[in-house]
Amino acid sequence: MVMESLKERAHRLHFKSLVVDAHCDTLLDIAYGKRNFNYHSEIGHLDLPRMRIGGIKVQFMAAFIESEYKPERSLKRALQLLDFAHGEIAANPNELTLVTSPQDLIRLQQEHRIGIVLSIEGGEALAEDLGVLRCLHRLGVRSIGLTWNQRNSLADGVGEGPKAGGLSGLGRQVVKEMNKLGMLIDVSHLAEKGFWDVLEESSQPVIASHSNCQAICPHPRNLTDNQIKALAQKGGVMGMNFAPAFIHIEDADLEKLLNHVDHITQLVGPQHVGLGSDFDGIEETPKGLEDVTKLPALTLGLVRRGYSEEDIAAMLGGNFYRVMMEVFNSKGKEVR
Ligand SMILES: [Zn+2]
Repeated sequence: MVMESLKERAHRLHFKSLVVDAHCDTLLDIAYGKRNFNYHSEIGHLDLPRMRIGGIKVQFMAAFIESEYKPERSLKRALQLLDFAHGEIAANPNELTLVTSPQDLIRLQQEHRIGIVLSIEGGEALAEDLGVLRCLHRLGVRSIGLTWNQRNSLADGVGEGPKAGGLSGLGRQVVKEMNKLGMLIDVSHLAEKGFWDVLEESSQPVIASHSNCQAICPHPRNLTDNQIKALAQKGGVMGMNFAPAFIHIEDADLEKLLNHVDHITQLVGPQHVGLGSDFDGIEETPKGLEDVTKLPALTLGLVRRGYSEEDIAAMLGGNFYRVMMEVFNSKGKEVR
């Protein structure tokens, strides 16, 4: 028998895994007409051909609400961006499929198609109305980041600094309703007090779709060890963010990102690590992860660090898959 090289092993492992990326902002590039999602572009980080090369199986696509739309026009902007996502899925029926239920996730494993999970980054889009939240759920949205960096009517974002407050009364109602609907509550960008409030309020696991570790890189967008422990205890997952500023103070690269993976694994185990690239939402990328086509290099890095095949598959997507299976409402019936 010929011994498999590490590179061959990583390649085999990567392309048989259900790779999940829990955050990208590519919808904005599509909305601005910067590029066509169907063409392999030289600009930006993610498009359909490049997702194939990168081995993506489930891609979260965020409707990021730009500041100039906040607060009054946030819902309209979210709907515009969601329309672009639905448009791409409809235009590529053999390549893309919307994921809204555990059944969709199970079916996806037998398919060639890439699953799209719709998310919203910024609770302003809910227009302070639980009915709007339910309608967004009906439109296929399955994950919401309650805030971006600023304060909104649900909670304070991390950009509000050390005096930032926690969840508002409405924010608590939104968490409860999202639990009922079977939606992922995303705590990335939330100020720390809001993080603790969400963990107390939510009956289900929550995610930090695109945040790293403060212990490795002291950026306010990263989670402290206590936050990581609590997120893990609740059964949640954090997606590794590729933004250089969240990886290392200087010279961020793939290896330094893997140091965050090592840290989380040592702290709480490999069951709470995932990917949340933030592609097309970050201005710069780390060396070795310039766009989505480079993802197999991340798997090679994990193989080189001695992780088991089972742990690597979990980190690449199995962990986010587990949380989605748990949280998405399998009954598929209307919730009032
Ligand atoms: Zn973000």
